[in-house]
Amino acid sequence: MVSDKDPLEPYRGKRHFDTTAEPSGVGGQAGDEPSFVVQIHDARRMHFDFRLEVDGVLKSWAVPKGPSTHPGDKRLAVPTEDHPLEYREYEGVIPRGEYGGGAVIVWDQGTYRPLGRDRPGRAATFGEALAHGHASFWLDGTKLRGGYALTRIRNGDGDEEAWLLVKEKDSAARHDGPATPDPRRARSARSGRTLHQVSQDEAAGDG
Ligand code: MN
Repeated sequence: MVSDKDPLEPYRGKRHFDTTAEPSGVGGQAGDEPSFVVQIHDARRMHFDFRLEVDGVLKSWAVPKGPSTHPGDKRLAVPTEDHPLEYREYEGVIPRGEYGGGAVIVWDQGTYRPLGRDRPGRAATFGEALAHGHASFWLDGTKLRGGYALTRIRNGDGDEEAWLLVKEKDSAARHDGPATPDPRRARSARSGRTLHQVSQDEAAGDG
């Protein structure tokens, strides 16, 4: 389904680009393989932002507890507005008072490949599989690896739309050890910095 509506309109509508250094989304380049990024966002409530490149934008979910490497864990994922592709490189501090004010690091980044088994019959593309409420995919990140699935568990009419992000049972699954890092100690896959260090750099004027 092709819509004339700019998918990034809600994203732009929430932000003041003269105040925040987040990208306005005018020049994103798609690569050969679709990308994914997981950011840690120290906003009003700490959360992970899980984003998959689909049809020229980053489809996005806020995952309060973050993705788990253990297949038994079901992690709540609440959809947020589509983000521009350039957002996969964004780390910095969103000014206080702006939408999502707080520090952001790129915790993980890489590419993914759709796992085709959701598709026959109903969905012709990965985007359609998501629109139908279920998609599975293989992540090749610097930290996350293996199959994951996103499944819609609650529709958005009248209530907050909700999904689950679950690690699939495969060779990359873990069954012990920490399933998700402590967000305050975790380091950026791009710069090696913690949230705290990104805040300090920004305050020093070289963020
Ligand atoms: Mn966020």
